[in-house]
Amino acid sequence: MDEKILKELRLILGNEGVSTGQSVRELHSHDESFHTPVLPDVVVFPKNTDDVSRVVRLAYDNDIPITPWGVGTSLEGNPIPVQKGICMDFQGMDKVLAIRKEDFQVDVQVGVVYKELNKMLSRYGLFFPPDPGAAATIGGMIGNNASGIRTVRYGATKDCVMKIKVVLYNGDIIEVGSRARKSSSGYNLCALFIGSEGTLGIVTEATLKLTGLPIGFMALRAVFTEVIDATDTVFQVMSSGLTPAAMEFLDGDVMAVLNKDRGLSLHEKPTLLMEFHGYSDEGLKPELSFVEDICRENRCIFLDKGIGAAERTRLWEMRHLTLESIKRSHPGLMPLIMDVAVPLSRYSDMVGYIKNAVKGLTAYVFGHAGDGNIHVIVMDDPKDRARWSLVEKANEDIVLKALELEGTCTGEHGVGIGKRHFLRIEHGEGLDMMKKIKDLFDPKGLLNPGKFFL
Ligand SMILES: Cc1cc2nc3c(=O)[nH]c(=O)nc-3n(C[C@H](O)[C@H](O)[C@H](O)COP(=O)(O)OP(=O)(O)OC[C@H]3O[C@@H](n4cnc5c(N)ncnc54)[C@H](O)[C@@H]3O)c2cc1C
Repeated sequence: MDEKILKELRLILGNEGVSTGQSVRELHSHDESFHTPVLPDVVVFPKNTDDVSRVVRLAYDNDIPITPWGVGTSLEGNPIPVQKGICMDFQGMDKVLAIRKEDFQVDVQVGVVYKELNKMLSRYGLFFPPDPGAAATIGGMIGNNASGIRTVRYGATKDCVMKIKVVLYNGDIIEVGSRARKSSSGYNLCALFIGSEGTLGIVTEATLKLTGLPIGFMALRAVFTEVIDATDTVFQVMSSGLTPAAMEFLDGDVMAVLNKDRGLSLHEKPTLLMEFHGYSDEGLKPELSFVEDICRENRCIFLDKGIGAAERTRLWEMRHLTLESIKRSHPGLMPLIMDVAVPLSRYSDMVGYIKNAVKGLTAYVFGHAGDGNIHVIVMDDPKDRARWSLVEKANEDIVLKALELEGTCTGEHGVGIGKRHFLRIEHGEGLDMMKKIKDLFDPKGLLNPGKFFL
């Protein structure tokens, strides 16, 4: 990068806020996916909105691409700086600005890590519900509209962000959204930025909607012989009027890996993990027996269950760090992580199709079943072109099937690089409107270029 630009960046951010070091650039060249890394020319570390605005204005005036970066846990190449230029890392913007307990809200800078935020909020009896598992930042969660195991009850990131401060392509700063719990005022620009992966503007601060921490818990682990019995149970629980706080499907291969990696002795069969929240443990008892009935009607062969926070922790422990267990079991191989979602009534069809499509591959099927979201982790070697093309073909077939079933090419991981070629099929002429919006918000095409559009 031009020495003159580096000098100007250092004037804005100080020497410590600008790095061209090889190891720092390497760290920011990839996410957690198999997509090809690209080194940015420089990594910058702003401390506030004004820093971001001045850097973006400099980039705009000099036609330099700029890619926002949370902690790089994306799975579709979303933060890879494919056209090099500036990578903007928000680790220096990690302040909680205001806690408004009485309004169930918190104002944060976007570099805050949501797990740390939730630890802090627990002192107030509150939490920010979207839970993508990895140690993601609020900025990265907004970028990808992340969700997680509790989305089935509490919503995705888009449901829990009320207001954001955004730096636009030329450095101008706007605030969109409202602190009011409802509003019919104008176009929903706040929602437009959420899930736009840094392609429309750079979010610097956010007002998040919080939820009171639940008091009562009950959890179940239900084991089935056939996948269809597990997925039918999902449909029946969801359509029975119950509101699970989490409902996860894991196929028998995932259970086998967990047993092997962690020395467990769980049934290596299709399994559902469920969690329900209530105002008291006592009040959850009738719900527990209702869910048990549904499981048994669907030929559940084993049921472990419990009421209370300790029981919930015991039953869910095995679900954490599933990806890590799978990776550890296949040293030297890379994961391709598929992510589709379908209407609930199509969930059984989708899982059945997937099990067939990945035959012959080293594949693990699991997902946020209550949201119709399903993941497949296929472990293989991207350098073995013949093998990897089979993996990519399965991914393609699975996404196309999800679209045929009126679903979406990505339930939560976003478009990034990996899902760009499905957008035309999913959105048709709607994609042209998206491109017009992109051109309006980013006339020079400098904001996280190479994403969304081919
Ligand atoms: C083990 C594992 C499990 C996961 N499980 C889930 C899951 O259950 N659900 C889920 O949704 N995801 C999941 N993910 C994916 C990932 O963790 C989430 O998408 C997460 O939100 C990314 O956050 P990040 O801070 O790492 O952001 P990054 O990956 O660094 O960035 C994400 C996107 O947001 C953009 N961005 C970052 N900051 C800003 C900003 N300030 N303004 C505008 N754009 C910005 C980036 O350019 C990029 O496009 C998982 C990942 C891993 C590795």
